[in-house]
Amino acid sequence: MTTQYIINLADEYVLATYARFPVAFTRGEGSTLYDPEGKTYIDFASGIGVNSLGYANTAWVNAVTEQAAKLAHVSNLYYTEPMAKLAEQLTRRTEMSAAFFSNSGAESNEGIIKLARKYSYEKFGSQNRHVILTLQNSFHGRTITTLEATGQEKFHGYDFFPYTGGFKYIQPGNIAAAKAACSEGSVCAVMIELIQGEGGVYPLPKDYVQELAEFCAENEILLLVDEVQTGVGRTGTLFAFQQYGITPDAVSFAKGIGGGLPLGGFLVNEKVRGVLRSGDHATTFGGNPICCAGALAVLETLTDTELSEVTRKGEKIRQTVLSWNSPNIAEVRGLGLMIGIKLTGVSHRDTVVKLLDSGVVALTAGSDTLRLLPPLTITDTELEQGLDVIRQVLQ
Ligand SMILES: *Cc1c(COP(=O)(O)O)cnc(C)c1O
Repeated sequence: MTTQYIINLADEYVLATYARFPVAFTRGEGSTLYDPEGKTYIDFASGIGVNSLGYANTAWVNAVTEQAAKLAHVSNLYYTEPMAKLAEQLTRRTEMSAAFFSNSGAESNEGIIKLARKYSYEKFGSQNRHVILTLQNSFHGRTITTLEATGQEKFHGYDFFPYTGGFKYIQPGNIAAAKAACSEGSVCAVMIELIQGEGGVYPLPKDYVQELAEFCAENEILLLVDEVQTGVGRTGTLFAFQQYGITPDAVSFAKGIGGGLPLGGFLVNEKVRGVLRSGDHATTFGGNPICCAGALAVLETLTDTELSEVTRKGEKIRQTVLSWNSPNIAEVRGLGLMIGIKLTGVSHRDTVVKLLDSGVVALTAGSDTLRLLPPLTITDTELEQGLDVIRQVLQ
């Protein structure tokens, strides 16, 4: 089996919805990936922020395979231990009140959108108070509703009309704009990414987020935080909101939680935990025992010490990249192991292609940014090797 064989087979039988790179992977170990020809790649992408523990992590593999051998799925009509334990872990470590589990980021955001509208309806008795504010340049998913929640024009093409309605977009960092948008009384929630990921790795200013949280609380507007990308240790704390000094009413997560298995969900605080009741929200696969067993292994690995390592390694990457003084690097942004390198004079996509040729997997974000999301467990040696390749490519 060769890379070309896999590409030809997929091109013939798989819908061409992705601009895939001409690379196939067959296995991984630590933060290193292998293609069918045996070429190795240092992974600075984690399958888009998913493989928190890298590849073939022993604790994760054991947890998943043991659970698969015991019980793979029973549906949400019955109780299973991995889901119950995972909800306990997540709520204890965030001081949130309860969890709901789904299968993806978009689906998790759909859940908190439903929650916000129902909370508002029950509290104010009016269907008109249903608008959700999101930020310009945000990304919230690919379903019809989360596409519309996404604050980027390019995602609102006429090809998929009609969208569901009920979203307005405000400028990130502008508290006056947020207040003005709420003045008519139609807004029930604000949904934000604390670091805009797909949009280019733009962290929101802390004082803006805190002011926004205060304003929302004073006006019975829910604060929904989309931590699908920033969550589960990526920024150096279990959730990024813990560094922003706020408590969301609901926070969604997905990508990194399952350590490579499809799992998502959201956490709610005490105030809104009674909103979604029996029959209000459901999914067949959500909180599947195998995925939850994998997630428990992820959380067990991400101790406070391991999380401080995420902060240290992120700082090391930023310092190293800045020290190159490369004319192609305009700015370095991000928090923990979520890093954006704004490029100038070279295209981000061309750079990612060159990096792949040279054995490093990296991502693009926004229109001009190279995005690095290495596994949280990446070793210093792998990190240095990968950075060395990036330095050569950007010279
Ligand atoms: C990736 C992402 C999503 C969508 O997640 P899917 O699992 O692809 O549905 C939503 N929000 C943010 C912030 C993301 O990064």
